[in-house]
Amino acid sequence: MAEEKVSCLIIGAGPAGYTAAIYASRAGLKPLMYTGETPGGQLMITNDVENYPGYPKGINGPLMMEDFRNQALRFGTDIRYDKIVKVDFSGSEHTVTAADGKVIKAESVIIATGASAKWLGIPSEKEFMHSGVSACAVCDGFFYKGMDVAVVGAGDTACEEATYLSKICKKVYLIVRRDEMRASQIMQNRVKNIPNIEILWNSTTDEIVGNEAGVEGARIKNNGTGEIKGIAVKGFFVAIGHHPNSDIFKGILEMDEAGYLKTISGTTKTKIEGVFACGDVQDNIYRQAVTAAGTGCMAALDAERYLAAKEVAV
Ligand code: NDP
Repeated sequence: MAEEKVSCLIIGAGPAGYTAAIYASRAGLKPLMYTGETPGGQLMITNDVENYPGYPKGINGPLMMEDFRNQALRFGTDIRYDKIVKVDFSGSEHTVTAADGKVIKAESVIIATGASAKWLGIPSEKEFMHSGVSACAVCDGFFYKGMDVAVVGAGDTACEEATYLSKICKKVYLIVRRDEMRASQIMQNRVKNIPNIEILWNSTTDEIVGNEAGVEGARIKNNGTGEIKGIAVKGFFVAIGHHPNSDIFKGILEMDEAGYLKTISGTTKTKIEGVFACGDVQDNIYRQAVTAAGTGCMAALDAERYLAAKEVAV
């Protein structure tokens, strides 16, 4: 298959990738975007997004991503619905290979491959994905105002989610699978001292239960006694960690122990010239659509400046 040359290649099509595409195409970089397996990313499993500025009435996650995509297309982004499976950043031009075998030589590469929430893997979790099950309290907590909810997990994220939800919801069950938490001591203490958080120690979720209207509760198993008890909740938040989608960059780009790509502070530059990272693949702290979009904009500006400086040098 013939090689294709581009000045700017964007890998990933969530808020970060599409925002980078909008900025890069308006700057005349004629970006080529590879969407990966889930164009739209994590917002494709989000119902209503109410905290993204500019949508005063809120917007359905997939529709919002459709708006982002159309905006990128309007300015001429070339969007391909395939996955990048291999990268080689060792030469002066960067070489990437798509799943269909196509090889692209890119002067600059913007990585926006995102992160994926980890799930429990029980059937009912999938069944209620859009009607009570969520992996983001900041995104979806508001829908359960004044109601009882559950959070699964025992890390800093679970503690943060439980703390956040305790301010909006009537009661929060925190389902912890061992008799201790992994979270930092300060976060654990905070959670333990909030009166409307009840910690269910040594507990795993047997199944989430509900009906067409959504989640009604969960069956919780005590790992010590084997006893199963029901809790009545309308929202069920899974907070057991995220996987950054960075596997293809292992051994090539710098990453932390969890696999989040490292960028040079205050920029989207990686240690490799002409390779930029934005969105959740390099952010394990904020993980919001709006922060991903913000860093997508930064990546396009960094790429544009890099290419302009390169042109002047030639
Ligand atoms: P972690 O990997 O730290 O924790 C995941 C938690 O989920 C663990 O307690 C684990 O249990 C539990 N878990 C995993 N699988 C299951 C399962 N199948 N069923 C039930 N429980 C399960 O992920 P986090 O997202 O919490 O944190 C990721 C990183 O981000 C950490 O370094 C954290 O410190 C950092 N972070 C920092 C924050 C801050 O400083 N404000 C906020 C949020 C995150 P077990 O302990 O038994 O393995």
